[in-house]
Amino acid sequence: MSQNLYDLLASRFPADRSRPCFLLSDGSQVSYGELEQGAGRVAARLVADGVEPGDRVALQAEKSVEGVMVYLGALKAGAVFLPLNSAYTSAEVEYFRADAEPRLLITDPASYLAEAPIEPLAESVARTASDLAAIIYTSGTTGRSKGAMLSHGNLAANALALYEAWGFSPKDVLLHALPIFHVHGLFVALHCALLGGCPMVWLPKFADAEVLAGLSKATVMMGVPTFYTRLLANAGFTREHAAHIRLFISGSAPLLEATFAEFEARTGQRILERYGMSEAVIITSNPLDGERVAGSVGFPLPGVELRIGGGEDVGVIEIRGPSVFTGYWRMPEKTAEEFTADGFFLTGDVGRQDPDGRVWISGRAKDLIISGGYNVYPKEVELVLDELPGVVESAVIGLPHRDFGEGVVAVVIGQGDEAELIAACRTRLAAFKAPKRILFVDELPRNAMGKVQKNLLRQRHAGLFS
Ligand code: AMP
Repeated sequence: MSQNLYDLLASRFPADRSRPCFLLSDGSQVSYGELEQGAGRVAARLVADGVEPGDRVALQAEKSVEGVMVYLGALKAGAVFLPLNSAYTSAEVEYFRADAEPRLLITDPASYLAEAPIEPLAESVARTASDLAAIIYTSGTTGRSKGAMLSHGNLAANALALYEAWGFSPKDVLLHALPIFHVHGLFVALHCALLGGCPMVWLPKFADAEVLAGLSKATVMMGVPTFYTRLLANAGFTREHAAHIRLFISGSAPLLEATFAEFEARTGQRILERYGMSEAVIITSNPLDGERVAGSVGFPLPGVELRIGGGEDVGVIEIRGPSVFTGYWRMPEKTAEEFTADGFFLTGDVGRQDPDGRVWISGRAKDLIISGGYNVYPKEVELVLDELPGVVESAVIGLPHRDFGEGVVAVVIGQGDEAELIAACRTRLAAFKAPKRILFVDELPRNAMGKVQKNLLRQRHAGLFS
């Protein structure tokens, strides 16, 4: 039997195809029947355009319903979907084109659909679980961006596990304000909704007024931490707005403990934080029913084996399981380097695991600071700083230092006296971990998913100690 992911998703669409899939801001709707029709017509056109199974089909466009039809149509046609961040410049797109050699790059999905045959492709192209469904270029902050190859089986396994873990049912309505060029909006959010045949409040981006209005129609919201800090910054956001939502989920970047606490105080709800990456979709999640702990990313999903490498309490998180990708596109050596002999993927995230299985992340391995020969985990210093008066958020980095190799530096949103804050850190942390300098800023540089771009901070302040 074919294991095309499209067939799994479509098998769960509501029997009554007139039921809504997309609830748009202008009050109009797009039904499941229209989604199926659109995806089938895109697939028919892809086949007519000469796309063969395994060919890459790239999409670079603003978020739209037609964009989802292109994604599903590509799966149905047996193609490998390649979403590209709509913010990429033409030079960046050129790199991905040369590397992935897509048969097609679609930049206007509505026109692509408009010119598609009237008849949808009847049958999906047969795929096995190990055939590729998508290539996701990692946001790679250093070196060449790598294409993570995800198979139909990888995506199906993760979607089914999440649907179960987060208690989805056809009664849910998902608020979808995430971009669809990244795993979070494209796989995590979309697949959970499609597996339930659920409607989605479909927002082109996070905009306060639309999100507040959408919350009253939805039962689940998935967001990056920035969504939650933006909601909290809005004094008009109250417990009543959140009352209709059964589950708020956060991921793609660390959720500050202060945000978790403030959100609970404002709404009475505890955000469920989970951890994932392009190479494995979702890896761990706080429980739906058990204790959701601020600062922890929860437990490995069923089927995911997780261990801490290096033989210490804190080390690189290694994972194995059905959603772990098959490798980096055309980089067999890089792929081999990132897997252990027994098949565990080295995530590059540093963390620890409690005896009961709960996981805590302390940062990226490449952000580890080595100062005077000692390891400093930025997260540990950030947690101390974030507790101090005047500090809203901090990002701790290592900068080249003549004596220490790297000097610990904190870039802080907030205000205060540098010497006093450093002294306060020294009462709570060993001297080698305390920042040598604190720089105050209004904003931290972030990428589209809300991740602080420490590489930019390191570049910007590279000469601080010279
Ligand atoms: P990406 O492949 O762009 O989705 O980025 C994946 C990376 O985001 C992971 O390797 C983590 O470093 C980070 N990340 C995702 N979720 C979390 C989380 N809940 N807490 C901390 N870091 C996270």
